[in-house]
Amino acid sequence: MLHTECSLESNKIMSRIWNFSAGPSALPLSVLEKAQSELLDWNGIGASVMEISHRGAEFMALAESIEADFRQLLEIPDDYHVLFTTGGATLAQALIPLNIASFGQAADYVVTGHWSNTAIKQAKPYVDVREVASSASDGFRSVPSSDNWKCSNNAAYLHYTANETIHGVAIRQVPQLPENAAPLVVDFSSSIASEPIDVSQYGIIYAGAQKNLGPVGISVVIIRKDLLERDGQTRADILDYRSQAAKDSMLNTPPTFNWYLLGLTVRWMLEQGGTAEFKKRNELKAATLYETIDVSGGFYRNEVAASARSIMNVPFFLATPELDALFVSESRKQNMLGLKGHKAVGGIRASIYNAMPLEGVEVLTDFMREFQRTHG
Ligand SMILES: *Cc1c(COP(=O)(O)O)cnc(C)c1O
Repeated sequence: MLHTECSLESNKIMSRIWNFSAGPSALPLSVLEKAQSELLDWNGIGASVMEISHRGAEFMALAESIEADFRQLLEIPDDYHVLFTTGGATLAQALIPLNIASFGQAADYVVTGHWSNTAIKQAKPYVDVREVASSASDGFRSVPSSDNWKCSNNAAYLHYTANETIHGVAIRQVPQLPENAAPLVVDFSSSIASEPIDVSQYGIIYAGAQKNLGPVGISVVIIRKDLLERDGQTRADILDYRSQAAKDSMLNTPPTFNWYLLGLTVRWMLEQGGTAEFKKRNELKAATLYETIDVSGGFYRNEVAASARSIMNVPFFLATPELDALFVSESRKQNMLGLKGHKAVGGIRASIYNAMPLEGVEVLTDFMREFQRTHG
């Protein structure tokens, strides 16, 4: 039985590549193998899980056990609903104001990179967006201290992005805010389950699955139950989180196969030791990569403030765009995929989510040293 931690040798035999893609991103090999083995006949019913009714007893039981596993993984308290939704994190960015703010009400946003701005764009038609802090002026290389967030008195919520997937900037500690601060609404798309968090500190946690939880096509919204009692704004039933919660995320046909794959991925994380174990692995992987960058004498550059560096997405730059491009094409020949930086910032980006083992990062850092030796 091969696991994600398989050696490079076995990786080659499987013709599986070290996949640093930002999202959709690598899934654990054992998850893919299990899905493959069950593709034609899931659970002994003689049909694929994607071929059966979401309202049948089998799928309902599966959905229930996935929620239980997910609650265990993140230690989600009982006073939170867990919704499994379609439309990605971006749809959640629009639905959250519709559901928990009245029309034109103030909503506070902290801006630490690309995805913070996306959240603002989606919310603008529905709320009075207030940018309470921004690190735009330093090119998103830091996080503004929460002491200086200029929060509104009457905001419906305070939104920030836990991990900026493109800029490689993270807010890993819950900000220290006054007792009466608005509930925190946090985009955890690219760092959910990467380390333990205290869910009770948040009003809403949302995430698209395709970075750390499974395949694209399904998202999770963890929402404190009292927030669903707010009236929100006029909206169709299908856009109403209260209706989704009442129908266990099956108001219409859910993406059953994606849900199942998310379930396998969550189960894998539990079996590997849960979020505490992934925090250790992820910090070690990130430290290995940043160390290689920092000792390169400027051949590789990552200018994010040390305290704000992401442990999930590590962007870096070489001296010229031509050298960046050569690095990417050479890495591809060395069995590595997905290292091209996002077009918004250029350069290189290594996404090292939970499914990426330390060994993959070591293959990358060995390659980086060799590339510097031959091109430095
Ligand atoms: C990928 C990503 C999104 C967008 O997710 P979609 O599922 O494509 O809507 C939003 N926020 C963050 C932090 C992301 O990494």
